[in-house]
Amino acid sequence: KLVSKKWKAKPTSIDLGDGVRIKDGDMALMAGPCSIETEEQIVKTIEHLKATGIQIMRGGVYKPRSSPYAFRGLGIDGLKLWYQHAKAAGIKIVTEVMQVSQIEEMYDYVDIYQVGARNTQNFNLLDELGRVDKAVMIKRGISGTIEELLQSAEYVFSGGNEKLILCERGIRTYEKASRNTLDLNAVPILKHKSHLPVVVDPSHGIGIRQFVPQMALAGVMCGADGIIFETHETPDLAYSDGQQTLDFDQSTKLVKQIKDAFELR
Ligand code: PEP
Ligand code: MN
Repeated sequence: KLVSKKWKAKPTSIDLGDGVRIKDGDMALMAGPCSIETEEQIVKTIEHLKATGIQIMRGGVYKPRSSPYAFRGLGIDGLKLWYQHAKAAGIKIVTEVMQVSQIEEMYDYVDIYQVGARNTQNFNLLDELGRVDKAVMIKRGISGTIEELLQSAEYVFSGGNEKLILCERGIRTYEKASRNTLDLNAVPILKHKSHLPVVVDPSHGIGIRQFVPQMALAGVMCGADGIIFETHETPDLAYSDGQQTLDFDQSTKLVKQIKDAFELR
């Protein structure tokens, strides 16, 4: 496979410009709300990220929701608004693309296209992302194996797009005490098998706010190249995933801990 270390021994480094990189031996931080909600929320979040030194903001404008009646995102207008503020602040954007038709309309406003866990095996979407000159982060499928994640990455890479990031975000198991089971085994295994950077998402991985920092730090220690987590000024008022979202104080504290843990690695 092209994404395997047998094909390419040298780790793949992703350069987003302005000195923002995702690469082996480094610690990329991505944080922000589950959903982009309002202009005020965008501004407040960017202020928080700047104060904390986080260079990449996450947030969904196209949301895959279990219920069709739940908030499904602000769409392309929300992305354009977000982009104006992010660009002015020098913050990069990672956001989910749900279908092929959105790739082009989103192109000018994103730095990383996120493929969500529900779309990991949307092979038409992966094929099209293979033709794009823009970074792609593929999340592990809800019930996907490590091998299936690598096969999904292979779709994009073989299409010609080598700016790829893998993300462990927890899998569905028999365990009900947490939202998902964050499979940290995947980190060393993916790093061993593939030259692509690996990011851990402890927010979706455990789904319980008070335990997110511990799982983030565990992700750092087991070799992740980056951590993506959800943060919001008032998590309990968030339109989605508030239960697993850190407030800004918790986020600030976690970033310090991640930096300390990374030093020890
Ligand atoms: C998200 O990042 O908000 C999200 C929907 O993630 P996942 O696809 O991992 O569930
Ligand atoms: Mn979420």
